[in-house]
This record gives sequence, structure tokens and C-alpha cells, in this order.
Amino acid sequence: MISTFIKKVRAYFKRLFSKGYKVELVDDEPDYVDDKIIYIIGEADFHAIAVMLCPCGCKSKIHLNLLPGNKPTWSITSQEKVPTIKPSVWRKVGCKSHFFVRSGQIVWAKG
Ligand SMILES: [Zn+2]
Repeated sequence: MISTFIKKVRAYFKRLFSKGYKVELVDDEPDYVDDKIIYIIGEADFHAIAVMLCPCGCKSKIHLNLLPGNKPTWSITSQEKVPTIKPSVWRKVGCKSHFFVRSGQIVWAKG
């Protein structure tokens, strides 16, 4: 019983301090892009573009269109500033990384 509780508490803190992504709403593209922040350019009720650094370490900036109607389009939902992005991000150039962002964590796509 008690050990289960301790495990749960440990898992909670591990998640809390793990290097997950956070979202930040900005009104313009930032000059410096932190590698653990996904910037949403726009306003509270108007999300235009998301900017993040490629998680593979290649330092490329990735821009994701969030405006419906302009293809391709992604959607970002966040809970307590912890983002989930849909669908997956697949770079067609450079490192060709293909990954998901789920609850602030990078999940690499297979293949
Ligand atoms: Zn990359």
C-alpha cells in the first residue's frame, strides 16, 4: 500500500520535473527559441502559427500552421500549458524528423 503511494508520488514529481514541452503564447515570432517551449503566435482566441525547435537536435525551427483552411494544419491543445499537437510533425526537409508531441513529450514515429 505505502510503497504504491510512494511510487505514485515519485512518478508525479518525475513528470513535473521532466523535460517536457510547455506552450507560450506570443504576439510575434521570438528571436530566441527555447528548445523546450512551443511558441504559439497569435492571441488567446486566435492561434496562427506554432514555432518550435526540432527535437532531434538539428536546431532547425519548425513552423506549424494552426489556421484552419490553410493546409497542412495542426492543432495544439494544452492542459496547464503542457501541449499535445495533432497530427504528427513530419519534416520534409533537412533531418526529416517524424514525431508526435503528446502531453509535452516527444514521441518518435517509427519508420
Ligand atoms: Zn531535426
